Amino acid sequence: MSTSLLPPSLPLIHGLTRDQLVEICRELDQPTYRARQIWDWLYHRFAADWSEMKNIPLGLRQALAQRLALASATITHTQSEAGEGTTTKFLIALPDGDWVEEVLIPARGRTTLCISSQVGCKFNCAFCASGQAGFRRNLETGEIVGQVIVAARSLGATPSNLVFMGMGEPLDNYDAVLAAVRIINDAEGLSLGARRITISTCGIIPGIQRLAQEGLQVELSISLHAPDDALRSRLLPVNRKYPLGDLLEACRAYAEQTGRLITFEYTLIQGVNDSPEQAHELACILRPIHARVNLIPLSTVAEFEGRAPTAPVVQAFLNVLERARINATLRISKGGGVDAACGQLRRRMIQTTDDGRQITDRRIQTTDN
Ligand code: SAH
Repeated sequence: MSTSLLPPSLPLIHGLTRDQLVEICRELDQPTYRARQIWDWLYHRFAADWSEMKNIPLGLRQALAQRLALASATITHTQSEAGEGTTTKFLIALPDGDWVEEVLIPARGRTTLCISSQVGCKFNCAFCASGQAGFRRNLETGEIVGQVIVAARSLGATPSNLVFMGMGEPLDNYDAVLAAVRIINDAEGLSLGARRITISTCGIIPGIQRLAQEGLQVELSISLHAPDDALRSRLLPVNRKYPLGDLLEACRAYAEQTGRLITFEYTLIQGVNDSPEQAHELACILRPIHARVNLIPLSTVAEFEGRAPTAPVVQAFLNVLERARINATLRISKGGGVDAACGQLRRRMIQTTDDGRQITDRRIQTTDN
């Protein structure tokens, strides 16, 4: 469908830790400060091409270019809501021609970047466009970091917060995601604090248990969406493998071990999981856990028939949680106008291009980034 941008065999420079880059410079008989200069180009100036690195001798740039790939991700399409300071969705082309998407959401003095961890997803949650497009592959560490770099370049600064809520299941690509988190967290690089990085999971218990041992202060978010096994298995098939009781026990252990508050995401779907009784049940199951609930009205997707409840129903659900002293907030879906629910933009673009039709949506503009 699309052409390859790079020879896929070269490792991505954005997948290296600072120590690994120092080691490569040493192998090339370079002083340590060269690694520092290159790191600066990568993570403070968001370099997209070796030729930008003016203070690095040409010979070294050439030697690096033979060993490492620099452009790990490229923005091919940008879709923004009208006006300043609004949500922007980027479609990102990967070196092998695959696509993922990311969303930049400015709100309340922060800029949150929502990134992908896989191309597609294996988990098939009923209302998520990513899963329904099927799974293609895991992203490499350098591709995950690369998404932050292209967004930072477009923004002119490192985003203040990062969430793994784009395409894919981060705990199903554990090693690459954790390696990326450590690079993004590096105090001499992007320096994005671990507390500002959220890993969101549909409930992969072994991943949650592993994450508890990492000694990292990252935020953990669980996509819960239902207060009982029958409904959760219908909405999130992964619940058949990792049922609610075991998941909540893993969460309780995680919170105890790390001292961190866990956020439970609950997408409200009209007539499915939005009754006051279900709110009450939710409060009961979460009471033993150091938890917070994020209520998100469903964002309509073509692949799922459900819709969001009306505002009074959402408010009534929230009231039950508050009366039960569960810390809960209502998150108004940002980016509805830009297909911000998982996988929507990629899916639409693929359908459009596979059909060979022209892209007619005026909000999608090709960027020459
Ligand atoms: N696999 C991870 C991260 C990706 S999904 C996870 O499951 O957490 C990020 C969040 O968006 C999840 O909470 C997911 O359930 C939610 N989501 C997906 N499609 C949605 C939609 N159409 N409306 C509202 N939330 C949606």
